Amino acid sequence: MRCILCEKLSFKGICGKCAKKLLSEQKHTRILEGGLKVYSFFGYSGITPILHVKHRFWGHRILKQIASYTFGKFAKEFEFGEKVAAVGVDDKSNGAYSHTAVLAHALKSPSITPVYGVLRAKNAVTYSGQSYEFRRKNPRRFIISKKIKKFKYAILIDDVVTSGFTLREAKDTLAKEGVETLFALVLADAKE
Ligand SMILES: [Zn+2]
Repeated sequence: MRCILCEKLSFKGICGKCAKKLLSEQKHTRILEGGLKVYSFFGYSGITPILHVKHRFWGHRILKQIASYTFGKFAKEFEFGEKVAAVGVDDKSNGAYSHTAVLAHALKSPSITPVYGVLRAKNAVTYSGQSYEFRRKNPRRFIISKKIKKFKYAILIDDVVTSGFTLREAKDTLAKEGVETLFALVLADAKE
């Protein structure tokens, strides 16, 4: 097969050269209204070939590879005095697998525990291409699982951040259960 990023022949979904480049990638930071910090690794155009891999098996494998180069590396460098939960935003499966669950899994470390199925959107409306006003009027209305109560701190995980509205809603939902969101970690920031 070919490397999904540079299209050179490669046995893996991402070739060694591109993997090295990914590992040296600097994180970007955006601060949302209300103060939530969002760290990202790609601009949206950089991530589209990965999110659009059609074949389920390859899509899953490539996302796992990317997650270990970005989220996995982040987890190795992350230290915090207390246990922190990694919470995927609406991590239900899209039929094959959940992008956010794969990303959260890559954060597993002595300090970080991935917790699945914590935030499930009641409102399955699609935000893609919709205005900020539309998003504001149609909140996700998350159902929260009680298993998050074991934690005082969380890192929110998503594949793409656009307006940041969903992340802010997720943060507020966790806060109502007494869980403080330290920051959000996403693969790509669509605001370029
Ligand atoms: Zn490559």
